[in-house]
Amino acid sequence: RNGTLVSNRYVSTTAAVDTSDPPCEKYEYQAEVSRLMDLIVHSLYSNKEVFLRELVSNASDALDKLRFLSVTEPELLKDAVDLDIRIQTDKDNGIITITDTGIGMTRQELVDSLGTIAHSGTAKFLKSLKESQEAGADSTLIGQFGVGFYSAFLVSDRVVVSTKSPKSDKQYVWEAEAGASSYMIREETDPEKLLPRGTRLTLYLKHDDKGFAHPERIQKLVKNYSQFVSFPIYTWQEKG
Ligand code: ADP
Ligand code: MG
Repeated sequence: RNGTLVSNRYVSTTAAVDTSDPPCEKYEYQAEVSRLMDLIVHSLYSNKEVFLRELVSNASDALDKLRFLSVTEPELLKDAVDLDIRIQTDKDNGIITITDTGIGMTRQELVDSLGTIAHSGTAKFLKSLKESQEAGADSTLIGQFGVGFYSAFLVSDRVVVSTKSPKSDKQYVWEAEAGASSYMIREETDPEKLLPRGTRLTLYLKHDDKGFAHPERIQKLVKNYSQFVSFPIYTWQEKG
């Protein structure tokens, strides 16, 4: 299923800037995603820290996919970067970035994966909410199902995903605000943000959740929730 393209616009803001910026396309989420987003933003207040486990597990899945495909397609590894996960924190600005060198996503994969619910865990989560007839604050359910990628919005006002698939020569950016019914996709044009391969998530934390952007907090969560991930996870250390 494809997302619905609702408008095109250009990202330049003043006449003086380069108008050759690529178009920024706006898409509406599938109805189920909007429902989930609404729930995440308005009803789920506890167990927020599961976001890290979910995002690290996605990074690990992406690395697994790359490793698996590279058995038959060794050229996928041509940009010889290590298979790992890096988590960086900016505590002054309340920003967390999670970078993996996994399989990444093409533009179409961004639309299919981050605009629709095609995957099992989240679909089950919505189903059990419906079954229990309580679309309220059920923190045990979120702990159990995690709600995958969208858990990022438990703690973030805005999420930016910049991703480079070995199948595409371009890198794309997916961007959305918590609670919005649509997201944007554009090409990554900032040379400093280009990745050899893989995905970088940038979480702009909500005011009350900025405490997650402390290296000690992240290290503790990684230890508690992600100790069985089979790829190295590096966390940011301030120079002491
Ligand atoms: P699930 O992991 O159960 O499939 P998620 O909501 O966690 O559900 O993720 C949805 C999809 O988004 C994944 O199946 C994957 O295709 C894509 N995705 C998420 N994070 C990444 C990533 N870091 N690298 C590549 N693809 C990703
Ligand atoms: Mg997942």
